[in-house]
Amino acid sequence: MLDFDNRFVRDLPGDPEPRNEPRQVFGACWSPVDPTPVTAPQLLAHSREVASALDLDEQAMAAPALLAALAGNGLLPGMVSYASCYGGHQFGQWAGQLGDGRAILLGEVINRAGQRFELQLKGAGPTPYSRRADGRAVLRSSIREFLCSEAMHHLGVPTTRALSLVTTGESVVRDMFYDGHPVAEPGAIVCRVAPSFTRFGHFELPAARGERALLQRLVEFTIARDFPELAIDPAHGLAAWFSEICERTAHLMVHWMRVGFVHGVMNTDNMSILGLTIDYGPYGWVDNFDPGWTPNTTDASSRRYCFARQPAIARWNLERLANALAMLTPKPDALREALERYDEVYATGFCTAFAAKLGFRHWLHDDVDLLEDLFELMHRAEIDMTEFFRSLARLDIEQPNIDVLRESFYREDLCQRFAGDLTRWLARYAARLRQDGEPAERRLARMNAANPRYVLRNYLAQQAIDRAEQGDAQMIHDLLEVLRRPSDEQPGWEAFSAKRPDWARHRAGCSMLSCSS
Ligand code: AMP
Ligand code: MG
Repeated sequence: MLDFDNRFVRDLPGDPEPRNEPRQVFGACWSPVDPTPVTAPQLLAHSREVASALDLDEQAMAAPALLAALAGNGLLPGMVSYASCYGGHQFGQWAGQLGDGRAILLGEVINRAGQRFELQLKGAGPTPYSRRADGRAVLRSSIREFLCSEAMHHLGVPTTRALSLVTTGESVVRDMFYDGHPVAEPGAIVCRVAPSFTRFGHFELPAARGERALLQRLVEFTIARDFPELAIDPAHGLAAWFSEICERTAHLMVHWMRVGFVHGVMNTDNMSILGLTIDYGPYGWVDNFDPGWTPNTTDASSRRYCFARQPAIARWNLERLANALAMLTPKPDALREALERYDEVYATGFCTAFAAKLGFRHWLHDDVDLLEDLFELMHRAEIDMTEFFRSLARLDIEQPNIDVLRESFYREDLCQRFAGDLTRWLARYAARLRQDGEPAERRLARMNAANPRYVLRNYLAQQAIDRAEQGDAQMIHDLLEVLRRPSDEQPGWEAFSAKRPDWARHRAGCSMLSCSS
């Protein structure tokens, strides 16, 4: 039912050692490994768009052999299972070999249109890269990954996708806050789908080990398979390829900043070579606008991966990749120039994205003052990012008034304290819009397209998790459905656009997430 062409294992060197035990793997890009079977798999949810991209109709999705494959209980004809080898910088430090510790690839599908997709199970048991961990994933983190990757896609953010969410019928023990309270939680497996799961860390590891020939092969393979449009001679085209990675990463950062997404663990092993959002862990969505906010409790003291620092961290990560690639070229300066390209593309992309959010036809030089003043006001007044930008479109620019924005405040006292400042800002903003002289309906349509009504707010994901853990998966289906059209008003679903309720402000899973998943 699926057509496979597994180039990664066919064209790149594999680990000759068949033992599935934790170890250092040298001179290879992957290790063969079988998923570990589970006792009682059940398909809890699937994405019909991803299924359809794989030419899987509803009947195919219901086939027992497919469920078995998605649960790690068997392979379909043509599949090969393996874990890939990579390293990475974690929280600013070189961490050595990491690898797919709980991800198992099932090969590359070619659909009828000739598009290629890698399939990857997350949580299907240990691999040679699992170190001391179990290779499993809990239901709560699997729901978060499944829903968020689909929600991001529908927001127009480049991302890996999720085909399926399967519960295993087995429990997984996690000490959620690393405070000596291990709990048995339900286990689950997500089948992720992307044209490539290659990360910056795949290149960093052979470079760090001095495995120059392996690095060269991986670069040539990646350009040929994942960047066919570049079709360049790798000896001369290294910088052109790296420049393309810089551009894609810059675009990705613009997207995260425009929708208020905080990844939470931007280690170089979690950076996709294709510029996709990858590895949904302790991520979060900005509620009250706070540049320093991080959802990740492990990052709470240093805030390395907080909202506002993401673009700078992405650049730092690109520098690590450039250092790795420098081994292959006598002219590493060209790689440095590509990094400057990152800065340019990010700056231009950011202005274009925020011009759209604010409803300007074009970004003008002085708009930066207006935007910076707004960010400062939103931060100090604790204004909800999503609600504010969505409501801003309803402002009457002939008679600007804060009434349309009252709902975006979390605190009545701050609303009163900052009403004057906001009124003054709105007057400047309305004057700027009048200068554009555009009909209101056209601006409204553009702003609504740029400012989603629905995002996967942290507390909504947590509610869906709480219910699923009680055996009721309905909210997962409802969120999946509503988040397919994030910019449309969807009557009856107002609850999914409500800003964070008070009870969720300091609750685990809603504003604080741990890496334990
Ligand atoms: P992450 O922080 O999720 O990006 O993971 C960092 C590294 O730890 C990667 O090599 C993962 O494969 C590995 N890892 C995370 N959780 C587990 C687990 N439960 N079992 C095995 N390896 C894991
Ligand atoms: Mg990771």
